[in-house]
Amino acid sequence: MSTILIIEDEESIAELEKDYLELSGFEVEIENRGDTGLERALKEDFDLYILDLMLPGTDGFEICKKIRAVKDTPILMVSAKKDDIDKIHGLGLGADDYITKPFSPSELVARVKAHLSRYERLIGSNTEKNEVIEIRGLKIDKTARRVFINGVEKNFTTKEFDLLTFLASHPNRVFTKEELFNNIWDMESVGDIATVTVHIKKIREKIEMDTSKPQYIETIWGVGYRFKI
Ligand code: CA
Repeated sequence: MSTILIIEDEESIAELEKDYLELSGFEVEIENRGDTGLERALKEDFDLYILDLMLPGTDGFEICKKIRAVKDTPILMVSAKKDDIDKIHGLGLGADDYITKPFSPSELVARVKAHLSRYERLIGSNTEKNEVIEIRGLKIDKTARRVFINGVEKNFTTKEFDLLTFLASHPNRVFTKEELFNNIWDMESVGDIATVTVHIKKIREKIEMDTSKPQYIETIWGVGYRFKI
C-alpha cells in the first residue's frame, strides 16, 4: 500500500484530502507545520508528498528543495495562487506537479495515482539508478560519492568517504582499526591505525548531531568501530 504525507496547515483541506485518498486505498499521514513536516519527510519513507506552499515554520518551496536534494519521491504542490505556480516553475524546485486550490478531490486522487504509477515504472526500469545507502537522516550516494545529512550535503575527503561507506555497507559489524586501515588504505600508504581514529573523528564531526553520543559510528572500546542501524 502506498503511503502519502500531506503537509498542510489548513486542517479542513488536509482532512478532505486524506478522506478521499483513503477511500482510494492509500495510507495517509498529515503534518500541520512546515518544519515538523519537513523533518518527517526526510526521516521517514513515503511514496508521495502533497505539499502546501504557505506553512508555519518552513514554507513549501524550502521543503520541496530539501526533499528533492535527497529523494526522488513524487511531490505534488498545492497552492491557492496562480503566481505561486509560476514561482514553482521559475525556481526549478523539482516538484512533479502542482494543483491550484480549490480543486476537486477526484482530480487530486487522479493526479496522485498518475504520479505513483509513473514513479513505480521509473524505479522498476531504471537499472542504472545510483547506489544509495539511507539510514535515518544520513544518505550516502555511493555512485556520485556524495554524503547528505538531513538533506544538507557535507564535503568528504576520499578516505573519509571510503571509510564511512565501508562501515555503512557492513552495518552492525565490529571492525578493528587494523581491519579498517587494511581495507581503506593501500599498502603503500603512509600512516598507521591512528589514521583511522583521526578519520573517524572527522567523519563524526560531519554526520553526528552530538559527537559525544554518536548515532551512526559507535566506538567499541578495546575493539574498534561499528556502524549502527
Ligand atoms: Ca497554508
